[in-house]
Amino acid sequence: KDSINILGVRIDCVNFKKAKEKCLEFLNSSSPHIVFTPNVEMIMLAQKDEKFKKILNSSDLNVPDGIGVVWASKYFGEKLYERVTGFDLMMELMPELERHQKRVFLLGAKPSVAEKAKENLLKIFKNLSICGTHHGYFSQEENEKVIELINSSKADVVFVAMGMKKQEEWIYKNKKKLNCKLIMGVGGSLDVLSG
Ligand code: UDP
Repeated sequence: KDSINILGVRIDCVNFKKAKEKCLEFLNSSSPHIVFTPNVEMIMLAQKDEKFKKILNSSDLNVPDGIGVVWASKYFGEKLYERVTGFDLMMELMPELERHQKRVFLLGAKPSVAEKAKENLLKIFKNLSICGTHHGYFSQEENEKVIELINSSKADVVFVAMGMKKQEEWIYKNKKKLNCKLIMGVGGSLDVLSG
């Protein structure tokens, strides 16, 4: 089985290795691909929000974020064997992005957090190409400017850290306007990285 269904949300049966491989495949494709990291909270939220459920199911890859999803999978068909959190997957991808000289854009969190996260990432991944950053508190009117900033940065990957639901909705709505190859929702990851 390639995926299981937990209360109407598709979770792909991937471990770290497989998830990473998929992301690298997406990076070499010609159109944007979306990766979401559903956890139990998101699956519960999707129960009262059909639109959110639909958005979650529209992704190209949904990794089982959190042990709760792995446990729940036992009761909903196939058992998942490994949790793959958004933060960990993002960090696992970094050396590959560095090696393949892919361009990374960090979007989200409060002003200056993404810049600090960039600084810290560059301490670990010295040759990583972080082509741009922007905070996650912009209005509908400012949205086009943010899209333009991302596209003019020639980003291959956009990590979107605007918290669950908000980031998935933003990604869903703007996917077609973005010229990158991989867009991934990573929750509060930039806060962690900026610390
Ligand atoms: N965030 C953002 N824009 C918003 C709301 C939140 O960039 O409009 C950021 C917030 O600064 C934090 C991250 O999203 O870095 C996660 O926020 P929160 O903890 O509220 O989300 P959750 O843990 O529910 O995913």
